[in-house]
Amino acid sequence: MIIGIDVGNTNMTGALASDDGKRIATLRRKSDRAGGAKAGVKLISEIIAALQKRAAAKGGSVRRVGVGFGGPVDFERGVALLSHQNPGWANTPLRDQLQKRFDIPVALDNDANAGTLGEWRFGAGRGVNDLLYVNIGTGIGGGVIANGALVRGAQNLAGEIGHIIVRRDGPLCTCGKHGCLEGCASGSAIGRRGSEALGRKVNGKEVFVLAAKGNTTAQGVLDGVIEDLAQGLGVGIGLLNPALIIIGGGLSEAPEKLFLQPLRRAVPRYCLAEAAPRLRIEPAQLRYDAGVMGAVALAMS
Ligand SMILES: [Zn+2]
Repeated sequence: MIIGIDVGNTNMTGALASDDGKRIATLRRKSDRAGGAKAGVKLISEIIAALQKRAAAKGGSVRRVGVGFGGPVDFERGVALLSHQNPGWANTPLRDQLQKRFDIPVALDNDANAGTLGEWRFGAGRGVNDLLYVNIGTGIGGGVIANGALVRGAQNLAGEIGHIIVRRDGPLCTCGKHGCLEGCASGSAIGRRGSEALGRKVNGKEVFVLAAKGNTTAQGVLDGVIEDLAQGLGVGIGLLNPALIIIGGGLSEAPEKLFLQPLRRAVPRYCLAEAAPRLRIEPAQLRYDAGVMGAVALAMS
């Protein structure tokens, strides 16, 4: 049996699964957001120990653990480099700490790569050898499957499509650059662009609600967002020639008519004409389970 752990900003979720990834049990606990790595590792260990007991009760044992972490990870060294949301995680050798404690092989990766593996193995990407996964929520993360394998790159930064620059004079991004895709087309960016255009504070979801009611200002904001997103995806298409782009995160819940349909129409404007006709753009399937099933997939890979 295997265990997948999703180390999120607000929750830690663990799943016990069979060797081929069928889920047997799930455990969810609130993260101690101020407690840093010390409290975090303790909580992860409690979840693993509890799931080990479940495995033993079923006459099995846990052979591998996969951990998806909400921040950049040095994959080769198994080190969590930083959590963007919660303090006290910098340079935590999480993989070795857990391996030492449980004497089980552990794989640690960032949640974007884990999410990519999860959608590939269990979700919208099953059976597809070349795909781009784009998670659009508060920020924009992503991952790449090429020739049937996850692409990590030299520093585990492959697939970071959120920091492709789509407007040189665009808004300042969390990474310190201007005009990143994340700053132009994430859920928070839609809220900010909507607030500027409408002259009052709205969030991303409200922009969609207004557009659905026929508000032309909100619709204009979405038109701009979709154009920026299509431009960013066009860069990915030029590099990877994917058969499928999977859109995950909060934006995958937006009404298809207002988001995915216009996005599918816009993308061919930003890539080679030959690359577009057979390219599918589909919503992610794992939704709330994306993190933990991604960690299960990571344990399997
Ligand atoms: Zn950026």
